Amino acid sequence: MKHIVCYSGGHSSARVAIAVAKKYGAENTILLNHDIAESVESSDIKRFKAQVSNYLGVPITYANIKGLPVDQLPDQFDVVVEASAFKVGSGTELCTSRLKTEPFMKWLKENAPDKDCVIYYGFDANEQHRIQRRASILGEQGYKTDYPIALWKDGVISSTLEIGIEPPMQYEHFKHANCIGCLKAGKQHWYIVYCTRPDIWEKAKWAEDEIGYTILRESTLEALEPVFADMKRLGVPATEHIEANAFWAGVRRAGVDTSTEQDRKPCECLF
Ligand code: SF4
Repeated sequence: MKHIVCYSGGHSSARVAIAVAKKYGAENTILLNHDIAESVESSDIKRFKAQVSNYLGVPITYANIKGLPVDQLPDQFDVVVEASAFKVGSGTELCTSRLKTEPFMKWLKENAPDKDCVIYYGFDANEQHRIQRRASILGEQGYKTDYPIALWKDGVISSTLEIGIEPPMQYEHFKHANCIGCLKAGKQHWYIVYCTRPDIWEKAKWAEDEIGYTILRESTLEALEPVFADMKRLGVPATEHIEANAFWAGVRRAGVDTSTEQDRKPCECLF
């Protein structure tokens, strides 16, 4: 029986990896990761993934798009521009499909053809819809899944600080360890990108130009620039750690003229 941890580089998946390796043995645990281009996954996430892997004595298994090494990986903008679309038929983000779902399913088919495995995710008890969705999609294909943070009574540490490993610094601004410039994220995420990563901001505008469609529902990134410039000038903090409604209420209180404060759903990437 293989125990396959969907090892995203996020703190939750690391906690799951530690719990699974402790319960079933490092030799029976697989840390499965889709590496992400260095331009959009911070070096600190890569540091975190490596430190937890070293601590467990379990090397990271990579299932990358086309089997490419990290220095040749396309980022989310490259894959959508190549396909001339932001979404695939069902409405899910094309980058998720190309960079994560397709390599994941290919890896499973090649490495767990007998389906004698359990696949673990880092969802917590507040993410019941994601748990049900994942259990249903993989269950239909004959795979078992488990969610230690949400379902196990014990055995999951609350922070990697307990084993002397600092969580990724990305969490200072962002709630998730997703690609920076996530194509599924909302305006609040893109404000952080605008403030902290002008290189990614410019590449995202390039992708909108090439595809002729917008990343955000309400407007192009270019049209948002004056709004974001005002927000930055007035000292609106670049953070996802303020709940969206409160964040945009604060923006209005600061006197910024914005009428498109509605934010979008969080990333639904496989892991
Ligand atoms: S984290 Fe966001 S940008 Fe990255 S693959 Fe998932 S949806 Fe796309």
